Amino acid sequence: MSGQPGSAAAEQILTGLNPPQREAVEHEGGPLLVLAGAGSGKTRVLTRRVAFLIAARGVYPGSILAVTFTNKAAGEMRERIVSLVGEAGKSVWTGTFHSVGARLLRIEAARAGISRDFSIFDRADSVSALKRVLAAMGISPKEHTPESLLSIISRAKNGMKSPETLAEEAQGPYDRLVARVFTEYRQALREQNALDFDDLLVLPVRLLDDEELREKYSRIFSHVLVDEYQDTNRCQYEFLHQVSRDHRQLFVVGDDDQSIYRWRGADLSNILDFERDHPDAQVVRLEQNYRSTGMILGAANSVIRCNVGRKGKELWTDNAEGERILVLDASDEQAEAMAVLKMVKAGLEEEGRTPKDFVVLYRTNAQSRVLENTFQLGRVAYQVVGGQRFYERREVKDVLAYLRLLVNPNDDVALRRVLNVPARGIGKKSLEDLQTVASAAGSSLLDTIRRVAAGEGEPVRPALRARLGEFVGVLDRAAIHLATTPVVEITEAILEEIRYQGHLEKEDERTAIARWENVSELLTAMQEFGDLPDRPDASVAAFLQEVSLATDIDDFDEQAGAVTLMTLHNAKGLEFPCTFITGLEEGLFPHANSAHDEGGLEEERRLFYVGITRAQERAVLLHAGARRRYGGFHLCRPSRFLDEVEPEFVERRSLGLPDHRRAMRTGAPAGGSGSGRSRVEGSADYFPSYEDETQEVARPEPGMRIRHPGWGEGVIEAVEGRGENLKLTIRFRGGVMKKVLAIYANLELLG
Ligand code: ATP
Ligand code: MG
Repeated sequence: MSGQPGSAAAEQILTGLNPPQREAVEHEGGPLLVLAGAGSGKTRVLTRRVAFLIAARGVYPGSILAVTFTNKAAGEMRERIVSLVGEAGKSVWTGTFHSVGARLLRIEAARAGISRDFSIFDRADSVSALKRVLAAMGISPKEHTPESLLSIISRAKNGMKSPETLAEEAQGPYDRLVARVFTEYRQALREQNALDFDDLLVLPVRLLDDEELREKYSRIFSHVLVDEYQDTNRCQYEFLHQVSRDHRQLFVVGDDDQSIYRWRGADLSNILDFERDHPDAQVVRLEQNYRSTGMILGAANSVIRCNVGRKGKELWTDNAEGERILVLDASDEQAEAMAVLKMVKAGLEEEGRTPKDFVVLYRTNAQSRVLENTFQLGRVAYQVVGGQRFYERREVKDVLAYLRLLVNPNDDVALRRVLNVPARGIGKKSLEDLQTVASAAGSSLLDTIRRVAAGEGEPVRPALRARLGEFVGVLDRAAIHLATTPVVEITEAILEEIRYQGHLEKEDERTAIARWENVSELLTAMQEFGDLPDRPDASVAAFLQEVSLATDIDDFDEQAGAVTLMTLHNAKGLEFPCTFITGLEEGLFPHANSAHDEGGLEEERRLFYVGITRAQERAVLLHAGARRRYGGFHLCRPSRFLDEVEPEFVERRSLGLPDHRRAMRTGAPAGGSGSGRSRVEGSADYFPSYEDETQEVARPEPGMRIRHPGWGEGVIEAVEGRGENLKLTIRFRGGVMKKVLAIYANLELLG
């Protein structure tokens, strides 16, 4: 690279890369696909490529677009780039398709026919908006749930279909109904100056239909790079195509074996057909895995080979062979969780590991509950990624709704949320009357309220007028400072004025403390947001945009000294020394919803492959003989995936099923768990039987203090039973006595 800018820096960027990785990073130009299996360095190559373009090819950082799958991944990539090329690296456009779309739409709001201050509706906001649409159309939400209608609309949007197209393609009355609902929903969002998540993907593509804009953005994004390309959908493909079609500097990395978002519209053909779509494309394959031991990799390779719809590639590694993958057979989900806890504890105490070395993966969010209880009783710190997200909590959404209204007065969803928070005695009937006036006048609800409060239009009862005036006053006083005051101060002023803490206490004393802690946490997030030196736009609008695009995985704190619990989907791209995959049972994983068709089954198998390949040193696969699901107790057959792992990579152990349960188990496939291979019955080392396990965890005793998520702190008065029948009698504040089953109660022992 002599003679080019920064060749010393360039050399540094290329160090620690193997020859094909280097080839990709130094690629001369034109479309390039890095197609490679898990842990082969795709993300590393992508990051280095960005740095290389800046340092060695003199590309202006602000004209590079690097799209990643989560905001967190984008943040890490930015940090890495900055560490390689310095501060200039900060102006690289990194982000998810959604965040890049939102940014672009703010810039081009006028062209897109929207106001720059648009709100971003999350899924719950969209459901609220749709519920109102259904009510106005006289459609019963029982007959057609807003959630299912929204999924269909979302799919249509991501397939770039308008309501008009849906109406044209309609095959029956239901399709026509969906098309009508879609039209009204679109209108409702327009009126509120709101975009939903899908709009953030679809509208930018629509914008680029305009040739002038398309040319503008292909100049702005002179180099386009995409991680996890296998999970792009039609709309994202279209966006990439539009911005790169002139210069063709499209650099994508992905693994067809890790495509796991078909259900969200991800289109595997985007990666499989890359060479067809770009006949001059160069394809680089990476075959060396740097992440995992030989055993783990062997197991992963053997499983994914069972899929037919793939390009086919093998990974090898120079890493140590390592220990075999452990397959554990537990009696039920409680025993499974206990086994995980026990192994984590052994790792902590005997191997000197730290909690963040461990991840526990599961197919469905519901599975986290038992694991959480067990970790709590066992006093091992954990963090759950996903489930109810921080920004979806009621109190957090309340506070954000006030801010949303400040920025976008047309946001009726936000208004309805907080008009009576705290209680202002504005009745349902009054609200509907106001809505009728607003609809007739074609104005927003807030505008109407403002006019009524000012005594204009139809006269209303003085009491109602005063209450509405109070509400408008809160917003108006805050609005004065909008442009000049940090978001955290504006929020604090609002909270004080509406006495929000008192409202939480009045509403439910038992949860008030926890909820107020969440509000404080939100204020901290605002503070941090304002503190970032490269964030001159730390305004309310910018903060709202940031939080509305946070994804599950963005809550993940790698530094936290805690074991991570997350779904397999959320684990994409990450790596952990010790990985547990739980619930490997037919119907759960592979999931019953996907198991009937071959395509669905292959996707489940890819998900399993994603799971195993997160492990660096140790992988443990667990399944239960019976599991409580949907309120019942179900006998379970081991997952077929367990039989697909070549026996040479596996060691099987049983936690010892009670005889009657084993006798009840039916139809385990030939070669399934326990057939032919050694079973260590109730073995004495790390994996004693469940009965013994329960004795190991901190046993609650009378006099101990505990915390219950709903009832708050209390003191244990009496203990009876053992294991899963352990019952506690607890005296909570105010003398309230409760008797709970410990295993279900989500208790935290305070000592
Ligand atoms: P996934 O498919 O799971 O997203 P990936 O292909 O993106 O994986 P990376 O996460 O980039 O892989 O790399 C996996 C691990 O291997 C990382 O810890 C990375 O630092 C390391 N690694 C990658 N390439 C090399 C190399 N040439 N030398 C040493 N370590 C490497
Ligand atoms: Mg990666």
